[in-house]
Amino acid sequence: MIREANAGELGVGAATMLNAPSSVDAFGAPADPGAVSAATADRAGSGTSRDSSRQALTGATPSAVEAAAAKALADQRSKAATDRAAKVARAKADRAAKVKADKANALAAAHRWVSPLASYTLTSGYGFRWGKLHPAQDLATSVGSQVHSLSSGTVVSAGWDSTGYGNLVRIQYWDGTVSFMAHNSRLVVSAGETVAPGQLVAYSGNTGHSTGPHVHLEIHPGGGDAVPPMPWLAGHGIRL
Ligand SMILES: [Zn+2]
Repeated sequence: MIREANAGELGVGAATMLNAPSSVDAFGAPADPGAVSAATADRAGSGTSRDSSRQALTGATPSAVEAAAAKALADQRSKAATDRAAKVARAKADRAAKVKADKANALAAAHRWVSPLASYTLTSGYGFRWGKLHPAQDLATSVGSQVHSLSSGTVVSAGWDSTGYGNLVRIQYWDGTVSFMAHNSRLVVSAGETVAPGQLVAYSGNTGHSTGPHVHLEIHPGGGDAVPPMPWLAGHGIRL
């Protein structure tokens, strides 16, 4: 017997150890050549079986590997597509935000309020004068000084007024307020014209019922009655 031959060469203990892994030996089956060969085959089989178990556990059969690789590739492509879409969406959002910011800035610029004159001296204010209401703030300034629109709006009228205003320009602003600027030497805008904040609309003068070169400034909120200009102007950031 092969086992006996092996035992003869290696010693019983060595032979037992040699065969120890065999399940055949563990169950005490006869150690004839057939059994040994069966045990060898079984060990070989067991090896295959263990590999199969591992594969079954990890799912790493060839087709599973291919499927995993395909999924990884698909995931990668999907992520790239998602990233591209996110980038496009970000760029679109950035453009939209910029357009919105530009519009807000343009609106803020159009709605700002500015002084009608660069240089002046405050003279008569809003109140009764010689028993009659003076519904304006007078700003003394040399003839020919540039007179500016207070904000963006539309020129209501620009021309000679025979009731005492002389060369008068009336502007209705974006919020409905109407300003009167009177006694000008020359007007440089026409009725219906749109104007921007600070735009030159006239050159100051001493026309109409005026006792000296100045701009007579009236403020009519909503086109209604005139109000004291100084607090109204201050409320709009114009501190004269
Ligand atoms: Zn006046």
